[in-house]
Amino acid sequence: MEKAVQKFRQYCQDNGMRNTPERELIIRELYRLDEHFDVDRLFLRIRNTHLKLKLSKVSIYRAIPHLIKAGLIREAFSDSGTICYEHVLGHEHHDHMKCLACGEVIEFYEKKIDEIQQKICDRLDFEMVWHVHVLGGYCKKCREINRK
Ligand SMILES: [Zn+2]
Ligand SMILES: [Zn+2]
Repeated sequence: MEKAVQKFRQYCQDNGMRNTPERELIIRELYRLDEHFDVDRLFLRIRNTHLKLKLSKVSIYRAIPHLIKAGLIREAFSDSGTICYEHVLGHEHHDHMKCLACGEVIEFYEKKIDEIQQKICDRLDFEMVWHVHVLGGYCKKCREINRK
């Protein structure tokens, strides 16, 4: 977590931006959430743990692009229109499955998918910076409940 704060300080310095205690607090709190989160959850968490702080949701929305550029978080997938973010530091690249019934997110990694998409990019002369894979469906638990 301190590593993330350090990284953000460096990013501010490199870009001639002023860092604020507010943003450092956002970073600390988002690293306390489990790895997939959206702005609403982050906002509620900060509001409930720092009762005296008046942080608006807008400040979080404004911080997000910088957190992405600084390499702290990335967009993981979107969930009925809401973007879910996830931690980048200490978190290997992976893709997601999301259960449409209970909302569970399962992470997976398959080297072949990455290789194939790189091949497609080479073929179409496209420089890929990121990609999002999310498979929607039903997890084992929810399918079993349904069968009863
Ligand atoms: Zn489920
Ligand atoms: Zn993930």
